[in-house]
Amino acid sequence: MTTTTVIPRVALVTGTSSGIGEAVVKHFCELGHQVLAVDFNPDGKAIAEAAGAAFYEADLTDPDACRGAVADAVKRFGGVDILVNNAGIQHVAAIEEFPEAKWRQIIDLMLTAPFLLTQAAWPHMRQKGWGRIVNIASIHAQVASPGKAAYISAKHGMIGLTKTAALEGGEQGITANAICPAYVKTPLVDNQIADQAKLHGMGEQEVIENIMLKNAAVKRLIEPIEVAQLVAYLTSDAAGAVTGASWNIDLGWTAH
Ligand code: NAD
Repeated sequence: MTTTTVIPRVALVTGTSSGIGEAVVKHFCELGHQVLAVDFNPDGKAIAEAAGAAFYEADLTDPDACRGAVADAVKRFGGVDILVNNAGIQHVAAIEEFPEAKWRQIIDLMLTAPFLLTQAAWPHMRQKGWGRIVNIASIHAQVASPGKAAYISAKHGMIGLTKTAALEGGEQGITANAICPAYVKTPLVDNQIADQAKLHGMGEQEVIENIMLKNAAVKRLIEPIEVAQLVAYLTSDAAGAVTGASWNIDLGWTAH
């Protein structure tokens, strides 16, 4: 087996106060990257700094905040080599009752912000002739479930953005890939377990086994670090030929 040397890069990661984003920041810092962690939760500052990353507080539903985050990375570190679009929220309601404001918030955060961040980071990647974009999508970028119209629409859209960025970036040394996880053990899923338990009158363990893992071949939740390690591969030099793809890390969920 050959060992791969990781070249230190400048990485901007969104949604870093918990879950997958927090794990990505920690793993990137361990690999020696300079990391700007971006989140609207001020608690993210202590979390980022403990990992060795810088922090930029921003509500990414605001377009100026997206551009501000990239500008901050450029000011601190001289550019952006790696962009990980990870920030996300969930809202569960049938289409008939889905609040328009929630629809807009989810699309702004999970589709428009990744586009604006990609757009702002692009010239810096192009200048260097090297860039890596990883969009944290979901199995819900490939299949739908009732009650999650905005989330599923945003995630499906993210695959389109990923493929387009891959085609435009090919000649410029920029790759773009999406990661599609099934249920990862994070606060986003913990809240859903509690909500679904209430909704279905079930125990929380029953929700995990009978709803979340029903379609899974591997019967456990995914750990955030497992997603972070895939992000690390896709943002490495070794992955230069890998672009425009959706990478499932889904316990066999979509093999049905
Ligand atoms: P999480 O709730 O632990 O983390 C989401 C992060 O996004 C938090 O740090 C939160 O503060 C931040 N955030 C929310 N709104 C923001 C805003 N307006 N501006 C800036 N930051 C904001 O969730 P997670 O499970 O780690 O999810 C991360 C990503 O992974 C999301 O895009 C989610 O859709 C995706 N995903 C998660 C799972 C899962 O099972 N957990 C599965 C598939 C995909």
